[in-house]
Amino acid sequence: MPEKEKVYLGRCDTYNLTELKRCFEEGLDLLGVHPEGRMTIKPNCVLAHPKAAPHAYTRPEFLDALLTVLETRGKPQGPIRIVERSGARISTKRQFKRAGYYTLRKKHAVKLEPMENAELVKVKLKNAKLHDEITVAKSLVDTDFLIYTPKFKFNILVNAITGALKLNIGILDDEERMMFHDFRLDQKIVDLYEVGKPHLIAVDAITAGHGGSQLTSQPYPLGLVIMGTNSLAVDVVSNAVIGLDAREVGHLVETHERGYGPIDLSDIELVGEELEFFQERAKDFDRGFVRVDKFKTSMNILIGDGYADGDHGYCMGGCHGITLDALLMAKDRNPHNPMKARSDVTLVIGKYEGDVTAKTVIFVGDCSEVKGTLKAKRTVRVKGCPPTHRDLLVALALDAGLYPELLRMSITIPQIPYMLPKFLTRIHRPQAWKTNMELLKHW
Ligand code: SF4
Repeated sequence: MPEKEKVYLGRCDTYNLTELKRCFEEGLDLLGVHPEGRMTIKPNCVLAHPKAAPHAYTRPEFLDALLTVLETRGKPQGPIRIVERSGARISTKRQFKRAGYYTLRKKHAVKLEPMENAELVKVKLKNAKLHDEITVAKSLVDTDFLIYTPKFKFNILVNAITGALKLNIGILDDEERMMFHDFRLDQKIVDLYEVGKPHLIAVDAITAGHGGSQLTSQPYPLGLVIMGTNSLAVDVVSNAVIGLDAREVGHLVETHERGYGPIDLSDIELVGEELEFFQERAKDFDRGFVRVDKFKTSMNILIGDGYADGDHGYCMGGCHGITLDALLMAKDRNPHNPMKARSDVTLVIGKYEGDVTAKTVIFVGDCSEVKGTLKAKRTVRVKGCPPTHRDLLVALALDAGLYPELLRMSITIPQIPYMLPKFLTRIHRPQAWKTNMELLKHW
C-alpha cells in the first residue's frame, strides 16, 4: 500500500519565536523532511496594512522562526529567496515593508524579491486545462526546495480556507492573475499547481482571518501551525479544522480528480496534536459567505447567470464573488456601512431575468444585462471579466456610496492617476466629494 501523505498539527498560541521554532523542528522531524540546496519561500503577502489588513499576511515572526530553523537544521545554499506578487497594481515592495519583511535581512541571509523586480521566466504547462503558459519569477522554478507559507483565512471567492493551492494565484502578474478568474477559478488554481508545487508547506494559523473579506477580515485566535509536503493534503486538513469537508470545495475536488493528492481525511496521516482540539477551538469561526444577492445592504442587488460562452450560473471567482468581497470589505470597516450605501442604486450581476427600475444601475462585469425592461436615469458599467477589485471598489464608492476598508489614503495614493479621471467625470456629483472626504478620514 502507498504511504499516506502526512500532515503535522502543532500548537503555538502566540508568535513567540521559541515556541514557533519548536513547532517547526517538531514538524520537520515528524514529516521526515530535510531541506537543502537553493531555497525559495513564497509567503502570503498580497496586502499588508496595520489598520486595513492586519490579518491578511504571513507574519514576519513566523518567517523569522522558519528561517532560523532552515538555517540551523537545513542546508541552505546561498540566500533564501522570498518571492511574492501583490495584486491590483499595488507595489509588492510596499507590502513587504508594511509587513516588516525587510527587518528579516538583519538576522538572516535572505533576498526579498517582489515579482515586479524579479527575473521572470515563461513556463509551458503540459497538463493544464486553461493556461498554456504562465510567467513566474525565476527563483520559483529555479530552486531545489520550495516552501509555501500561506495565511490561514477564509476566502469567499472559493468558499473555503485558502491554503497552499490558492497561494499560487500570487505567483502570477496582474494580467495572468485575472485570466479565467471567473466560474473557471477552480480549474485555474489547479493548472498552476504544475508550477507551484512546494516541497514543504507551513501554514500560519496562529491568528487566523475570518468573518469578512480575505484581505480585511477579523482576527481569530487558533494557535495552530500546520505543516505538510502535499498541498492538497494540507488544504484538506486546514478546511477540516473549521469543519468543512474538502469534497464541498471545488478546487480541492478538481485537484484530487487530476491525481495530485488525497481528498479524504482517512487517506491522510495526522501527526502532532489532535485535530479535534483545534476543531473545538474553531467552533466560532465565521465563514462570512452568503449569496451576494442575500447580503444585507441598502442597495438593491440583482443577479443572473454569469455567461462567457454558455450558461455558467453563479460566478463565485468572478463578479458574484468579487462583489460579495467588496461588500464584506465595507462591513469590515464598519458593520453599519453596507446599510449606508445609496438605496436608489441597483447592482446587476450576470444576466438578470426581469424588469429593473432605479435611479442608478451599476452593471458589474462585461456580461451583465437586464433581460426585461430597464428604466434608469443613469447606468454605469464596471468593465472586465471579471472586473478588478480596484475598478469595482472605486465604482462602488463613487457611484453607490459604499466605502470598503481598502479605500483609505495610504493605500490609494499610488492609484491617484487612475482615480483622478474617474473623480473628474463625476465632479458635479456630491457622491464624488463625499468619497474624497471619506478618503481623508481614513489614513
Ligand atoms: S463578466 Fe460574466 S462571465 Fe465574466 S466573471 Fe463576470 S459574471 Fe462571470
